[in-house]
Amino acid sequence: MVTAHNLGFPRIGTKRELKFGLELFWKGQSTEHALTKLGADLRQRHWQRQSDLDFVPVGDFSFYDQVLDMSFTLGNIPLRVGNLSGTELDSYFRLARGRSAGDTVGNGVTAGEMTKWFDTNYHYIVPEFTATTEFSLNPARLLDQLDEARQQGINAKPVIIGPLTYLWLGKSKDGSNRLDLLTRLLPVYVELLNKLADQGVEWVQIDEPILVAELNADWRRAFNLAYHQLNSGNVKLLLATYFGQLQENLQLACKLPVSGIHLDGINARAEVNQLIDWLASYKVLSLGVINGRNIWKADLNATLDWLFPIHAKLQDRLWLAPSCSLLHVPVDLEREETLDVEIKSWLAFARQKLGELTVLTQALNEGRDAVADELAANASALQSRRESICVNNPMVKAAVANITAEFGERHSRYVARAEQQASRLKLPRYPTTTIGSFPQTTEIRQARLRFRTGELDATHYVTLMRTEIERAVREQEALGLDVLVHGEAERNDMVEYFGEQLEGYAFSRFGWVQSYGSRCVKPPILFGDISRPKAMTVEWIKYAQSLTDKPMKGMLTGPVTLLNWSFVRDDQPRSTTCYQLALAVRDEVLDLERAGVNIIQIDEAALREGLPLRKSQWQAYLNWAVESFRITANGVNDGTQIHTHMCYSEFNDIIESIADMDADVITIETSRSDMELLDVFNNFKYPNAIGPGVYDIHSPNIPSKEQVVQLMRKAAQRIPAQRLWVNPDCGLKTRDWEEVIPALSNMVKAAKILRQAG
Ligand code: GLN
Ligand code: ZN
Repeated sequence: MVTAHNLGFPRIGTKRELKFGLELFWKGQSTEHALTKLGADLRQRHWQRQSDLDFVPVGDFSFYDQVLDMSFTLGNIPLRVGNLSGTELDSYFRLARGRSAGDTVGNGVTAGEMTKWFDTNYHYIVPEFTATTEFSLNPARLLDQLDEARQQGINAKPVIIGPLTYLWLGKSKDGSNRLDLLTRLLPVYVELLNKLADQGVEWVQIDEPILVAELNADWRRAFNLAYHQLNSGNVKLLLATYFGQLQENLQLACKLPVSGIHLDGINARAEVNQLIDWLASYKVLSLGVINGRNIWKADLNATLDWLFPIHAKLQDRLWLAPSCSLLHVPVDLEREETLDVEIKSWLAFARQKLGELTVLTQALNEGRDAVADELAANASALQSRRESICVNNPMVKAAVANITAEFGERHSRYVARAEQQASRLKLPRYPTTTIGSFPQTTEIRQARLRFRTGELDATHYVTLMRTEIERAVREQEALGLDVLVHGEAERNDMVEYFGEQLEGYAFSRFGWVQSYGSRCVKPPILFGDISRPKAMTVEWIKYAQSLTDKPMKGMLTGPVTLLNWSFVRDDQPRSTTCYQLALAVRDEVLDLERAGVNIIQIDEAALREGLPLRKSQWQAYLNWAVESFRITANGVNDGTQIHTHMCYSEFNDIIESIADMDADVITIETSRSDMELLDVFNNFKYPNAIGPGVYDIHSPNIPSKEQVVQLMRKAAQRIPAQRLWVNPDCGLKTRDWEEVIPALSNMVKAAKILRQAG
């Protein structure tokens, strides 16, 4: 019999219950008891949904982030948080989100650094290490949840992050080698596994996704050391890898003394045969055969053609699962009543993916006939997708074929452009600006909702949005910012907004995926060839510009970000889809310029996260990604200033490509890393202007003007002052006006201090 299991289930709930529960709690409008109860309810519901499986993951639920949970399980809590009073949950959220000095429980606390989980749009809180970090086991969360699951009759498989991946994901704060901590860390893992064994747990899923990354000899050796020590014999370990191929780590992984391996059968399908050859006959192979990273239906018939011979070989040793945790896909397609029925028939969300898994398992166990209807329905859905006229537009294909090198070239080099732009824009030194969005108030959200449901007609909607734009402009003028934005009130989301106006996109209503903490995104579904029927932003920006004499930035989302933050069709190369997007946004850039907009920002927040996990594949991606940006941006005149924005980016290895994009100004995330990020721009002698973020908008903390001055002085040690801008880390849509005004006011005051200081 084939064993079916799952690696992780989305935790937010079909209606984003977790988000709303967390936010109430953070605002002080609910109790810890209520939040705890919500967590238990969600877990129960999710376990029930998975109860058809032979093993159900436990420990995948989290109130904020599974890496942060692991830090608490391992007792690795930075002193600045651990020393404060309050409950464990207080400490947990302090580390996740930071706390301002006005906090009643303690003094101001800097939030833990946050970064992207491998090549996904999920963010984790980076574990912090020093040479003296000690670990101590705190197993309560996992044991309680295990208990909870069992009381509900669930066959639980606890899920933990493995010791090497845990260390790898963290950051040493004092330059010490975090791998040196392994000997101190392993006993805590052993203790945890023993505790689970004492509870009668049979299998533990231990996630080591770094096995798909390039590991040096020390890390590879550490794997051997660690797993020999963890091999206590009391509990069976399923070593889970996902998101890519194991390549040179394949043999290492096969030889580790664990009871089974999970391989991403979507991305690493080519390695399956080799793995089977190398896998000892007592070990289980779990194959991730349903794509946990996209929303397309699997080709069940083709998958079975592939799996039958594998099953014949492995028999009971074959397990089936999604390729990775389903954290990265929306919860349930069932609720999508307004989605085009044809398109809907091509899709599968988490629940449906588990359904597909059940069909595959049943076919292998009982023969295809047992699921003949399901297989036939699947085949006809796939055929409809292949042949649909909504997917294929010959004009778009021709336009991409006609792209030439000139599309991506500015007329002059940066220095000449900068001069023209300076005389046109007349900005002071240390110009201040924001990244685009202003707080999305309840009124704004309601107006958009009422417009969407038809309760509000277009004229009234436009009037309401114009009122919001005017408010944003007046506030910015009062604050004394130099380059203004319209505030993006009309945008629900920086990708969906554009997707809605482009042909080739479809939208779910409830297809939310967790991005970080309570923040969720609803990636649009890019299913067909992309075209732009008409201008998308020009009217709003023109209106905003008409309200002020200060320069107004036009705000666009770049092609690479549109691509990376969408669920993208899998029937053509991503590069082809990206060029299609680039041509559409290029037309918008040119329309803005024609409308008299002198500064245009093209956000590429997601450029870095599209990097393949392995460096050997980076250049190919960067080539088409940077070219797509250039095609979008570089059709303008020299006097038009192009900005780009990237959040949470580490630029070390891609600085050359960033420079190649040739944006006149780049604004980046830096405040959480204390300007360290700028070293790379300095070392590379990055030639264009930079706005290092000085206000961490992901935390409710309000920076003082002294803090901003200090950060900018650090920046000026690295980048000449005449090429520095002053701005927040990212857009302000998730904050309240009450936070934004004092923060920006301090930022503007700081810029004045810097200018006076010369
Ligand atoms: N312009 C966008 C905003 O301000 C950028 C958001 C982002 O980079 N994530 O909201
Ligand atoms: Zn950003």
